[in-house]
Amino acid sequence: MDEFYHAAWTASRAQASHPLARTGLAKPSVAGHSDSSGTFIDRDSTMKRSLLSPLPLICAIGLTACAQQPAQPPEPQASLADELVMATLWMQSSGEYAALSHQAFNLARMNLDRALAAPEGSDRRPPAIIVDVDETVLDNTPYEAWLIANDENYASDSWAAWVDKASAVAMPGAKAFLDHAASRGVEVFYVTNRDDDQRDATLRNLARVGFPDADSEHLMPRTDASDKTARRQQVAQSHWIILLMGDNLGDFSSGFDRATAQARRAAVNAQANAFGSRYIMLPNPAYGDWEGALYGGDWSLSDEEKSRARRNHLQVWGGPATH
Ligand SMILES: [Mg+2]
Repeated sequence: MDEFYHAAWTASRAQASHPLARTGLAKPSVAGHSDSSGTFIDRDSTMKRSLLSPLPLICAIGLTACAQQPAQPPEPQASLADELVMATLWMQSSGEYAALSHQAFNLARMNLDRALAAPEGSDRRPPAIIVDVDETVLDNTPYEAWLIANDENYASDSWAAWVDKASAVAMPGAKAFLDHAASRGVEVFYVTNRDDDQRDATLRNLARVGFPDADSEHLMPRTDASDKTARRQQVAQSHWIILLMGDNLGDFSSGFDRATAQARRAAVNAQANAFGSRYIMLPNPAYGDWEGALYGGDWSLSDEEKSRARRNHLQVWGGPATH
């Protein structure tokens, strides 16, 4: 439940908590890879390389044996790292991704200014916005590219090494928007599921790119739960939250936590008016809770099982008619 709506936003009010909250689900926290409830599955412990199906092995023994095999659905062969290639390329090289990022921050600026100007926007509490960090205001795609280049899956150690470098750049349009918010007297709270022990490195990175409010008071990393509700509530106790920005539905409300991809879609469609107004979404095709939903929240699946689960979610056209 998002209880921070100003009257101007009540038409798009988020719904209350639902039966499939994060508790009990193995869910990602940062970069889609950890969990709030002690059910975290260390992806280090899963197979890092693709599992070869028996068929190619038989083919390697002899082409005759291969030719005699009955037709079977192809088993996933690519590593999960390979499957990151197009998403990462799109994020790193496409003008379209940069355009969407600018679009999000331009929309946020418009809504912020409108809220500050609207009579119903007057609130005794100081105005604030809440932004997620990763793939919302900071770009970590070099880490994703490193995973691809090294055929690795996400792991807490390599992620921590990347975070410690504090070298992520700002998302396109992020600095201009956050500076504008600060110039209007709006405080920026960074609510992130980076670990609490990454606080200093994160502050260094936020300061390096020149973001406002890059201090410990405004940075709220994950301490116990990846669910951000309590941290949003903490901000709301003292501030008027005008809008929230994120690349993951959990950055807005736990009301979007659902076990299946279909249910997440339905939850978004039910809150359609909130997006582009109080909720400003950044695109992230590389990782997120959307991925976990493909696995039913079970991050313990092997690479092969994950790859198959991904393909099983494809909605496939029946193909051209045969004559
Ligand atoms: Mg994020």
